Amino acid sequence: MHRFIVVGGGAGGLELATRLGDRFGSNDSKTPPKAQITLVDRYPTHIWKPLLHEVAAGSMDPFTQELEYAAQALWHGFEFQQGELIGLNRARKTITISALRDEEAGEILPERELEYDTLVLAIGSTTHFFGVEGAQQHSIALDTVHQANLFRKRLIAACMRAEHFAPEPVAVGITEDEPGIDHVPRIQVAIVGAGATGVELSAELRNTVQVLSAYGLHKFDPKHDIGTVLIEARPRILPVLQERMSTATAELLTKLGVKLMTGEKIAHVGSDSIRTARKKTFART
Ligand SMILES: Cc1cc2nc3c(=O)[nH]c(=O)nc-3n(C[C@H](O)[C@H](O)[C@H](O)COP(=O)(O)OP(=O)(O)OC[C@H]3O[C@@H](n4cnc5c(N)ncnc54)[C@H](O)[C@@H]3O)c2cc1C
Repeated sequence: MHRFIVVGGGAGGLELATRLGDRFGSNDSKTPPKAQITLVDRYPTHIWKPLLHEVAAGSMDPFTQELEYAAQALWHGFEFQQGELIGLNRARKTITISALRDEEAGEILPERELEYDTLVLAIGSTTHFFGVEGAQQHSIALDTVHQANLFRKRLIAACMRAEHFAPEPVAVGITEDEPGIDHVPRIQVAIVGAGATGVELSAELRNTVQVLSAYGLHKFDPKHDIGTVLIEARPRILPVLQERMSTATAELLTKLGVKLMTGEKIAHVGSDSIRTARKKTFART
């Protein structure tokens, strides 16, 4: 029987495995499958990436939106193997996937070799940091649920620390070239890239920070104490859309309290500061 392996259960791989399973697989013990289809992913669940900004902003619980690969496999006549692709032998037509470990149970499955007749690699891409010094080390990319949750947790932790250790407003996150600024947010969130995701995340954040009092932050005024700045290298936000869309969106974001910085390329990212090529700096002071 022909063996298909699809590695990567993202937007492309999940759809492919599902369609192959519907066409050649079987989810019923009486009908023999015409082919064996195996989906491999390093995670047990899939989430639709355009929802990640909502997870990061805390307006969506990812558990309610995730799809279990094992359940999808059962419904659509394919198999699921969890593990990370760590090796490929084209001559022998095999792939190697990593051991499956669990924090509690330790190693559940050892490293495994799977044989294929047709292999599809649909492992997506990785975030491009454009060689900006410190960017990979100090920023959080928004490409996985883990990263979205990490951002959310760090924001809440920063707010709690600010309330506990510095209950009165202190200067945190300010552009050095704006001495006349009348209100200095205690927490500054810098979002780099004003494409659809950056714009959606900044707007969503302005709305969701309002509920931070649920974490016991009573002296904290999220509207004023958390600043959001959206930085874009091109001359306008949403650069791939028509100019009137950029203008209308910029007006809405400004009303929500998002500070827009366009035409600014990031040159350096530190543990608590960002410097742009035109020497503007966001830093703790
Ligand atoms: C925040 C965000 C918002 C977006 N919004 C939109 C939008 O509104 N509209 C739109 O059209 N596109 C949007 N995109 C882009 C879209 O999500 C991607 O184009 C699409 O996901 C690419 O599909 P893919 O199958 O190639 O890869 P992915 O969807 O990235 O899937 C890759 C899969 O491979 C798995 N994987 C990776 N490496 C390994 C390995 N070594 N071993 C095993 N498994 C592995 C990953 O866990 C993942 O499940 C957005 C992307 C992001 C990050």
